Amino acid sequence: MQDSDCIFCRIAQGQIPALRVWESDAALAFLDVAPLAHGHLLLIPKQHYHDVRDVPAEVLAALTSQLPALAGAVMRATDATGLNLLQNTGRSSGQAVFHLHFHLIPRTEADGLGYRWNAGKYGEGQAQDLQSRILDELRP
Ligand code: AMP
Ligand code: ZN
Repeated sequence: MQDSDCIFCRIAQGQIPALRVWESDAALAFLDVAPLAHGHLLLIPKQHYHDVRDVPAEVLAALTSQLPALAGAVMRATDATGLNLLQNTGRSSGQAVFHLHFHLIPRTEADGLGYRWNAGKYGEGQAQDLQSRILDELRP
């Protein structure tokens, strides 16, 4: 299942060059061409899935099984002291390439990267209401 209009499918098939750091039959990791930090990696399945909602659990499990090794390798290679693992799902989250991918972004204390992490709070009963709605959605 591949999409010839998809840039990450084309990278997976070797039609577009990428600086690969790891691959298996089903997955591939390569350097992001426009890095948020030096060493910024992308980890993708070779098959085309849109985002984290449509990937089969076993494909995701095989993909993410490489995260410990990749995270350690990129942190050692860049002398990073931290790492952000990021997966954008949907345009509103910042997703621009609609082929499932994880970002591995090496971090150091003074790198200037960061989120606007404007923590909110729930009104009376709102969290419980959301809990019950999510539980309903998860029910088979
Ligand atoms: P996202 O916003 O989560 O969809 O991230 C897409 C990422 O893909 C961005 O960080 C881009 O820099 C990266 N990207 C797009 N095209 C390429 C490419 N040809 N090779 C490597 N990285 C790419
Ligand atoms: Zn694709």
